[in-house]
Amino acid sequence: MPDPDLVLWNASIIDCRAPHPVEVMQITVRGGRIVDVGAMEGSPPPDAIDLGGRFVLPGLIDAHIHLADDPKMLEAAALPKPLQGEEPRPRELVYFALANAARAFLRAGITSIRDVGCYDDNAIVLREAIRLGLTEGPRILACGRIISATAPGGRIFNTMYEEADGPWEMRSCVRKQLRRGADYIKVMAGGARSVDRENPEPAQLTREEMDALVDEAHRLGLRVAAHAEGLGAVRVAVEAGVDTIEHGLSLHRAPDLLDHMARHGIVLVPTLSTFHDVGERFADLFAPRLVEQAKRQREEAYRTLKAAHSAGVTLAMGFDSGPPGADALELVRMVDGGLSAHEGLTAATSGSARALGLTDAGSIEGGNVADLVVLNSNPLVDIKTVMRPDEIWTVVSAGRMVFGPPTHSAARGESIATGV
Ligand SMILES: [Zn+2]
Repeated sequence: MPDPDLVLWNASIIDCRAPHPVEVMQITVRGGRIVDVGAMEGSPPPDAIDLGGRFVLPGLIDAHIHLADDPKMLEAAALPKPLQGEEPRPRELVYFALANAARAFLRAGITSIRDVGCYDDNAIVLREAIRLGLTEGPRILACGRIISATAPGGRIFNTMYEEADGPWEMRSCVRKQLRRGADYIKVMAGGARSVDRENPEPAQLTREEMDALVDEAHRLGLRVAAHAEGLGAVRVAVEAGVDTIEHGLSLHRAPDLLDHMARHGIVLVPTLSTFHDVGERFADLFAPRLVEQAKRQREEAYRTLKAAHSAGVTLAMGFDSGPPGADALELVRMVDGGLSAHEGLTAATSGSARALGLTDAGSIEGGNVADLVVLNSNPLVDIKTVMRPDEIWTVVSAGRMVFGPPTHSAARGESIATGV
């Protein structure tokens, strides 16, 4: 047996399987995967990294993020603001900003992301750059273009969308995304709250169109994520058998649909942060009607979080906001909204893994990809720990330490938790 890549010694493991840290554990990583997790035995192997009882979580997974080159979302990762009279900028500079974003996700412990729509196939380009080792970043699942009916949003979102009408165009559009390099399909089941001339309540696609899209995607082995806000949109998507509902804020009004989702394993990605964005943070950037609508929707989204949780629907963390690396704010909001810290962490790890269809991520078990976050303090005591950069001791991505640990604490080798 070759030497392990990494042995983490004296870890307190927190994942979906126990509501408390499991202490004095060792995690062995080989070939980028976890090969063994067990109680510490004897003395540490020579190259083991002593965590001193620190808390190890599975890497966090953001199930709803847009790798759009939007300076207000990218913040520090974005290109500097252009000055008047300055040399026109080559479009390709955007890829450097996206590489900044990729690093920011990883350093914050976001080891996988699902891009739910961006311009010009940015997410596919970034995914390939990471795969080829040109830049570091999280595991990326990309949808290619968002499939939408002919709709006002198509004029606003340009190359983020591909419009199609009728069942056969839906099937063709699914095939085009696969050809483009998509890992899964994203569809607008209904209108978007961020588009003035769209009504988010009714379905935009007919049942026939949605059935054709889901049938084509599933037949080709692709999962389907449906943007659905109002009940008409949610119903057509859920009944057609999509895999995830994005936003889904009106679901608290339809217990039958929540039961159906729980029974069929359809994951809800509540994206609470987006309603805070349109309703508060970026209120001056949106049409007043949309700001008022977002405030109402925020109330509904929190109500739906609770109703979905009580109905046993699997929840996933989707930030749908920025800047990259601040994603765990969504997890904190889910806890503010009524989940326990452990339930929130479960949503952000195993729940999100289910949303993405990943069977080798989201928990700290043998066989899974070694995506891990090591925290100084226990996030089950204070969930905000997950969003404080100074609390992150190190991040492991596919078995490789992304940074750290800080040398002074690495050498200390003493326990900061009970147990040893
Ligand atoms: Zn979104």
